[in-house]
Amino acid sequence: MAVFLHGLTNEREISAALRFLSRHDIPYFAQGGAHGYSPTLAVIQHAVMIKMERFDEIRFNDDNSVTVGGAVLFGDLMSALYAAGRELTVGSCVCVGSTGAMLGGGHGRLQGKHGLTSDALRSVRMVLWNGTVVEASESKNPDLFWGMRGAGHNFGVVIESTYETFPQENDGMHYNADMVFTSDSLEGVINVINSLIPDQDPALALDLLFFIDPSTMSPVIFLNLVYAGTQAEGQRYADLFASTNPGNSTTGPRISRLSVDASVATFGDLNNVAAGGAITAACATGSRQNAYTSTLRTLDVSTMRQLFASFATFVQENPLAINSLILFEIFGQEGIDAKPNDYSAYPNRGFANVLTLLQMTYTNDAVADAADTWARQWRDTLTLPDVSGYPQQHVYENYAHGDEPLEAIYGYDEWRRERLTSLKRKFDPKDNFNGYHAIPLDGMW
Ligand SMILES: Cc1cc2nc3c(=O)[nH]c(=O)nc-3n(C[C@H](O)[C@H](O)[C@H](O)COP(=O)(O)OP(=O)(O)OC[C@H]3O[C@@H](n4cnc5c(N)ncnc54)[C@H](O)[C@@H]3O)c2cc1C
Repeated sequence: MAVFLHGLTNEREISAALRFLSRHDIPYFAQGGAHGYSPTLAVIQHAVMIKMERFDEIRFNDDNSVTVGGAVLFGDLMSALYAAGRELTVGSCVCVGSTGAMLGGGHGRLQGKHGLTSDALRSVRMVLWNGTVVEASESKNPDLFWGMRGAGHNFGVVIESTYETFPQENDGMHYNADMVFTSDSLEGVINVINSLIPDQDPALALDLLFFIDPSTMSPVIFLNLVYAGTQAEGQRYADLFASTNPGNSTTGPRISRLSVDASVATFGDLNNVAAGGAITAACATGSRQNAYTSTLRTLDVSTMRQLFASFATFVQENPLAINSLILFEIFGQEGIDAKPNDYSAYPNRGFANVLTLLQMTYTNDAVADAADTWARQWRDTLTLPDVSGYPQQHVYENYAHGDEPLEAIYGYDEWRRERLTSLKRKFDPKDNFNGYHAIPLDGMW
């Protein structure tokens, strides 16, 4: 149970609140976009939820950087960027908090061009547990600045963040194609996707979804393709997924495309248009989400076939989970890998070709246990080195379920553990920010 603290409007009030709550040992946490779904948040009980909703300002600076309040949502940020003729890597869902996402790294369709959202962070203004207001950047508190980009849920409440932005290309217009395929096209579609992953075009972003059509209870293969460039360039990629000639062995397994819905969208509207708005539909409240994740080098064809069949059977046998889906985000890696491995606390450079989400969605808890078991088992399968293509488990912090080893979330290098532990001891010595994949103060992980 939580008590909500609404209406705080400035850093002085946040500072006073944190000072008071910490002094009286009252648990608390900040809420930005309200889209954090990690079960680890459950450790925060009988807490004060500090609603950051009034920290919603977006302002552009003379050097084209943009400063955004701690509760600004990606949808509002995209509209503002588009209007200003600028761009930045943002998440795929309009209602996700830009700060909450950035603190874990921040994946998005433009990452091939510009890296993670957090890679563009230039400074952050925040309040620590004892009410102290600090700024973190390359020149001020650089150690904290390093940790805020990838492990940032651990250290304080962000008042505002300032990002470098980039001139928008192609007048901010993006090609979008939503495609549906027959079930027997799975191998063909995956073969094409796998062929695109090495050195993926930085402007190309693919979202492969499996879901169940409620009218037929049959599984659907849905591919969203976004190209941050001209229609002709995007169309060239969409054509790779056009129906192929049965029996033509030179083209590999057959693809039979049932539909293609192609359009051009502004950057400001892209998330509402892409995937027919399916990802944005996750903004709807009222249902429970239980997600597991895995990171893959490529999509293992035979495992994908088994997963697709198993998912269909699971939902057919458990129709209460009808709104569940499986999502594979296949975004460019060039911008992420351009930064050195120790650039920030984000640990997955070189290990994040495909982000998988096994997203169980339901309103009736009667299906909760079955959904949890099914998704966890498949997460475990997808994590096997032979399947994932990576020798170790790598997990995006913001998608983590929370039962993964912390090394999988924050990295396997010993120096990362030491650096994060020392930051935790220095900036959150009483472990007040412990609700989101907390770094233990004792360094035991
Ligand atoms: C439908 C959906 C789509 C998503 N798409 C993407 C995506 O495309 N890319 C991506 O990278 N991630 C994505 N995510 C994951 C998302 O980044 C995380 O769930 C993120 O933590 C959500 O942040 P929030 O502010 O919306 O949530 P909240 O529940 O408000 O916060 C989540 C965590 O962030 C902390 N937090 C939020 N704001 C602040 C602040 N101002 N100061 C300090 N701490 C703060 C909270 O205390 C909490 O620990 C998606 C999630 C969902 C549900």
